[in-house]
Amino acid sequence: MKAIQIHETGGPEVLKLVELPIPEPGPGQVLIRVEATGVNFIEIYFRKGVYSAALPLIPGSEAAGTVEELGPGVTGFAAGDAVACTSVLGSYAEYALAPAAQLVKVPEGLSMEQAAAALLQGMTAHYLSHSTYPLKAGDTALIHAGAGGVGLLLTQMATRLGARVITTVSTPAKAELSREAGASEVILYTKQDFEVEVKRLTDGKGVDVVYDSVGKTTFEGSLNCLRPRGLMALFGASSGPVPPYNLIQLSGKGSLFVTRPTLWHYVATRAELEWRSSEVLGWAAKGQLKLRTEHVYPLAEAAQAQIDLETRSTTGKIILEP
Ligand code: NDP
Repeated sequence: MKAIQIHETGGPEVLKLVELPIPEPGPGQVLIRVEATGVNFIEIYFRKGVYSAALPLIPGSEAAGTVEELGPGVTGFAAGDAVACTSVLGSYAEYALAPAAQLVKVPEGLSMEQAAAALLQGMTAHYLSHSTYPLKAGDTALIHAGAGGVGLLLTQMATRLGARVITTVSTPAKAELSREAGASEVILYTKQDFEVEVKRLTDGKGVDVVYDSVGKTTFEGSLNCLRPRGLMALFGASSGPVPPYNLIQLSGKGSLFVTRPTLWHYVATRAELEWRSSEVLGWAAKGQLKLRTEHVYPLAEAAQAQIDLETRSTTGKIILEP
């Protein structure tokens, strides 16, 4: 099978197209013929060595495709089923293994590309808005990277829950997309100081929650945007990791809460995975959750796909098709 493999950490050039044997599913595993896989920041963290993994490595964190073969002990799935998964082992490939316990069926009416565009980023937006800080009518949320893959989905879910959403973006074109997703106010952080703007827009009160995926360059400013006892959900590090932080400062800023959540802990049980995935894929299939695919690349162009994501030139999702 064709796959992208990394033999050393580094820039996009370390992503090499190689020919490898098709893996065999072990107990509890399913072999998926990958039809679409999403490109995510986590694969860039692994490529650069920000997160460490044994090498050589086939990158990839999610896949949509059809079941090719079941490993010993797997029930509930059959060859040919349309499935998607956010905990695959190496989905930048024509075939990938996934634990059956983490696999979900793709509903009728949703293409593989749509399933790959919806599942990981959609379940992330779902847990942030429904569980990490469950939004309700009257809440105000600040969402950074409002026109990004997670940002567009999170804005839609937050506004549907009745919250007022303020976003930050880098360009006027991204601002337009963020408004279309439901943001009531969009801050062009390249021209305006987002902290000053948030204070102005909330009459000095601050927001109830900040969903911050940017990290290093926004963390301190985000804390300053919170109302007393507000919550910071730091869920990514697109600009780099946040340096060590002296927690006593949270007291001075208003007894703030900070959490560093990850999707894995919010889909850890089958019931929670089914709740989030069925809502996200169901809303997408009914057109109630608008998906935006920026670009579909062939697998061989994985490096270009990661460059696009890393250089802020994307809105919505990038898909690779083996
Ligand atoms: P995005 O589409 O949001 O892309 C990142 C965006 O971040 C850019 O387009 C850019 O938007 C903004 N950004 C600001 N500063 C930088 C910078 N220095 N370098 C790069 N981008 C920057 O990506 P995703 O939707 O795929 O992921 C968003 C974040 O969510 C990532 O950090 C990812 O790791 C995290 N994530 C976390 C999960 C979790 O469970 N914890 C799960 C899934 C994703 P603009 O141009 O408007 O500034």
